[in-house]
Amino acid sequence: MKNDFHKHRLLLGAHMSIAGGVDKAILRGHNLGCTAIQMFLKYNTRWEGKPLMPEEQEAFLANRKEMGMSHCIAHNCYLINLASPDETIYHQSLSAMRDEMDRSSRLRIPFLVIHPGSHKGSGEGEGIKKIASSLNLLLEKSGESGVMILLETTAGQGTGIGYRFEHLAEILNRIKQQNRIGVCLDTAHIFAAGYDIRTRRAYRSTLEEFDRVIGLERIRAIHLNDSQKPLGSRVDRHEHIGRGFIGVEAFRCLMNEERFFNVPKILETPKGVDRKFDRRNLRILKGLVKDNKKPRGRIYHAGGHAL
Ligand code: ZN
Ligand code: MN
Ligand code: MN
Repeated sequence: MKNDFHKHRLLLGAHMSIAGGVDKAILRGHNLGCTAIQMFLKYNTRWEGKPLMPEEQEAFLANRKEMGMSHCIAHNCYLINLASPDETIYHQSLSAMRDEMDRSSRLRIPFLVIHPGSHKGSGEGEGIKKIASSLNLLLEKSGESGVMILLETTAGQGTGIGYRFEHLAEILNRIKQQNRIGVCLDTAHIFAAGYDIRTRRAYRSTLEEFDRVIGLERIRAIHLNDSQKPLGSRVDRHEHIGRGFIGVEAFRCLMNEERFFNVPKILETPKGVDRKFDRRNLRILKGLVKDNKKPRGRIYHAGGHAL
């Protein structure tokens, strides 16, 4: 039963809605058979969220314990831009980030994924410096026990920073509390940014490049999305697994990557009615995990032919 054991250990899930309270995200993930989930901490398209009440906080912690959802990660609000040259937006972003970090720590969520930011014309170098100094400030103010920030790789739409591994490396290098910063790798984003992962060979060379520039040990979460847009398009549109320009091979590589066994893998693909697409995408991903008892390097269908 080696295979079952292996599948059981998979840290796999999807982004879950918090409609009705943060505790409901755990319930929804549990019902889908997720062993890891991602969630927003408040409605993600508004600056202000309603305060997190103690009852909601307790319900979340109780659900997580009861359902054994050991891996919950948070994603920040889309409005936040720590690279904004506009003073008003910048200060709104800082205080919104403080609130996000506070909510994370109250919910004992270890990782908060953020999009690094958009420089809006001030230049990438300026943007990178501003993001790093903002994060240093936020980390300093939130104390030693707080959440780890994960910088997400981006597709490079508009003036967004983070579409080159070098951008993230530069930000990381400037952070004082190194134990509180990591990376979230998004497959659709790196692909749209120009990093090919469609074949085993391309996947390997992209991972090697990541390792050389940033270090694979920095990856603490992975977003599994196929891409509606081609390689290097710099457009961020998620597609169901195996149905986009990336194709299934990249996901096979990732699902069997020993170095990522302990890294939570999260779908951010369209959900459909009653999350039926989540169910399908999760099933496809689980099906890509190799059975150790069968010959190496090949997966067999029930019919016996090699894929
Ligand atoms: Zn994201
Ligand atoms: Mn993502
Ligand atoms: Mn995206």
